[in-house]
Amino acid sequence: MRLVRLASLALLAATPPARAAVNVMATTEDLADLTRQVGGDRVRVEAIARGYQDPHYVEAKPSFILKLAKADLLVVVGRELEIGWLPPLIQQSRNAKVQVGAEGYLDASLTARILEIPTGQITRAMGDVHPLGNPHYWLDPGNGRRIAKAIADKLSRMAPADAPSFASRYADFDRRLAEAEKRWDAMMAPYKGLKVVTYHRSWPNFVDRFGLDVIGYVEPRPGIPPSPRHTIELIAEIKRQNVKILLVEPYFDLKTPNSIGRETGARVLVMPPSVGGDKAITDYIALFDHDLGLLVAAIKETGAK
Ligand SMILES: [Zn+2]
Repeated sequence: MRLVRLASLALLAATPPARAAVNVMATTEDLADLTRQVGGDRVRVEAIARGYQDPHYVEAKPSFILKLAKADLLVVVGRELEIGWLPPLIQQSRNAKVQVGAEGYLDASLTARILEIPTGQITRAMGDVHPLGNPHYWLDPGNGRRIAKAIADKLSRMAPADAPSFASRYADFDRRLAEAEKRWDAMMAPYKGLKVVTYHRSWPNFVDRFGLDVIGYVEPRPGIPPSPRHTIELIAEIKRQNVKILLVEPYFDLKTPNSIGRETGARVLVMPPSVGGDKAITDYIALFDHDLGLLVAAIKETGAK
């Protein structure tokens, strides 16, 4: 009995002490999933915005303040995507670790490829919600890879003992993403240059990656609701260029898109830009599988090409 106890004590002493997982808050479900991909069971992750919500406009619930207060790391999209709701949450959390510029604050846009960076004066005063370039950059798998790498590197600095685990999980994600990209490229190869219209400017990285061409937007400017004059011009352009697909993010009112669809014969396709935007979109790779599947089915049905 005594011997057994001694033996088990010796075993306990040989086992390294359990390390606490890194407590991560991500502003979106996309960033939360990429954190999970590289962090595995060495992180606890929660997202603030849900994938079916417009990430520009999220209700700053007090429960998020309490969660942020306990976070070791906050991962944000940046480029002012969250400017309407995140700053008061960070401030009220009173958590020094996650303040802007602190070690536990990671702006995922810093290592991503950002499109539509304004060259002239910043246009937020005109109501444009993309004043620092397009913040929907996670919709290019190449950027997903860059974000995952930045998160893995950050986690490795915060929890050096787990660095080998983060590195091998990143390598595994990179490999699975590369395999998926071959599949997506094959799916989209017949449709290079296909013209589409989108509601919001959510898709520049996506269309650039998969070879589509956006010829117009339902919103006159990002964040500005459709106006009758702009809609009339857009309808004329859709007819002139024979566009068959109109992509709408799930959180926009379908009234204007549906009337454009009736006028032009274009198919209105609700396509989620984020993980969690549909039950089927359970992770970052599933996001592209789901959206490209929807898109190809609509292309085939409408005879667009
Ligand atoms: Zn936007």
